Amino acid sequence: MPATSSPPSPAPETFAVAVVGAGAAGLAAALALAQAGVATALVGRHAPVADGRTVALLDGSVRFLDALGAWRALAPQAAPLAVLQIVDDTGSLFRPPPVRFHAGEIGLEAFGWNVENAGLVETLRARARAMPGLTLIESDAESFAAGEAAARVVLAEGGAIEARLVVAADGARSRLRGASGIGVRDWSYPQAALTTILAHARPHRDVSTEFHTRQGPFTLVPLPGGHRSSLVWVTAQARAEDLAALGDADLAAAVEAQAKHMLGAMRIDGPRGRVPMRGLAVASPVAHRLALIGEAAHVFPPIGAQGLNLGLRDAAALRDAVLAAAEDRRDPGSRAALAGFARARRRDAALRTAAVDGLNRSLLADLLPVDALRGLGLLALQAVGPLRRAVMREGVLPRRGTPELMRAR
Ligand SMILES: Cc1cc2nc3c(=O)[nH]c(=O)nc-3n(C[C@H](O)[C@H](O)[C@H](O)COP(=O)(O)OP(=O)(O)OC[C@H]3O[C@@H](n4cnc5c(N)ncnc54)[C@H](O)[C@@H]3O)c2cc1C
Repeated sequence: MPATSSPPSPAPETFAVAVVGAGAAGLAAALALAQAGVATALVGRHAPVADGRTVALLDGSVRFLDALGAWRALAPQAAPLAVLQIVDDTGSLFRPPPVRFHAGEIGLEAFGWNVENAGLVETLRARARAMPGLTLIESDAESFAAGEAAARVVLAEGGAIEARLVVAADGARSRLRGASGIGVRDWSYPQAALTTILAHARPHRDVSTEFHTRQGPFTLVPLPGGHRSSLVWVTAQARAEDLAALGDADLAAAVEAQAKHMLGAMRIDGPRGRVPMRGLAVASPVAHRLALIGEAAHVFPPIGAQGLNLGLRDAAALRDAVLAAAEDRRDPGSRAALAGFARARRRDAALRTAAVDGLNRSLLADLLPVDALRGLGLLALQAVGPLRRAVMREGVLPRRGTPELMRAR
């Protein structure tokens, strides 16, 4: 019987790095690598979600976005966060007075700038379209397999590509992380976050306020114009469902009451979203020919504006690791080339996850000793200038191992 042979399939296109997932973390990583002259592919559909979610970009993240040429277009959409205010609204016996942190105290104009997530992704996408050396592949990744010399990513739209290093930036439910066999620890909280955008009668004066309630933090973050803010209301799941079912006028009234009428009359002025609160940590952010960044590597509740800022640090640090490997003529997908990246990212993520988890659980605990500890911590920050400034600096940008594009110039 004559042998049958199908026509040989074309050899997959090969890149130095393939980033999978076109959210903010993946876009930033792909831009940073391509800008540095690394042949990069970005695999992912442009799929921004209208959920009223904003991100407070801290100082280092803004420097990074500026270095990527994206900040000029984003700046008009961003509001500075000059003051952070924490109000203990737990009703506890150990309730400290409101604490205020001023960015000016650590020599900054603002701790960060708040932008709508959809606008951030749109701006980065526009920049990616114009970036030489960056190949955009409008498809989901179907699978990932690490080989001896390269990894292969099979595309949902058909075909495959190969790269020496694949970067999984495909979000909290990362398919690539699943395929890699990397160990994962995940957990959930009995809470959900309600997000939307509000217009209000009184000006916010660039002050972001976090009310710590027994069911979680309720946070109002300034948006441009003085009379708009974004809301992240972390509360019990059933309460979040009830609030989500309200019409705009009733929801605005509920928000106004919870905010103690601080910003006057309120009106819902944007889309809404509801996100269940969960956490996720990985045993390692790397495997052979794979690095995890953004929510593929870490998930925690939205407290203290840490999530995407951590994800952008992953992206900026990954660029440094790939460039260092190129300089030493090392394989960028080897475990040896990724070892420093893995160590630094594990430490940073563990620190943020523990801080956010600890604060969130201390609110839910409803135990006097825990309340006392939290209250004393806030009082100490209020009273002790050097401690307050050290905590503010560490919250904005960790001192150790700052990636190159995040350093002050
Ligand atoms: C209510 C709320 C408020 C927040 N506020 C802040 C804040 O103020 N500051 C802050 O720093 N962080 C904040 N965060 C966290 C921040 O929003 C996230 O860390 C960030 O959006 C995660 O970005 P990412 O790019 O890692 O993931 P995602 O935004 O989830 O992007 C992942 C991308 O991968 C794509 N994808 C998935 N699977 C595949 C596949 N198989 N192939 C290709 N593509 C795929 C998805 O479509 C998506 O585009 C907040 C989070 C919440 C829930």
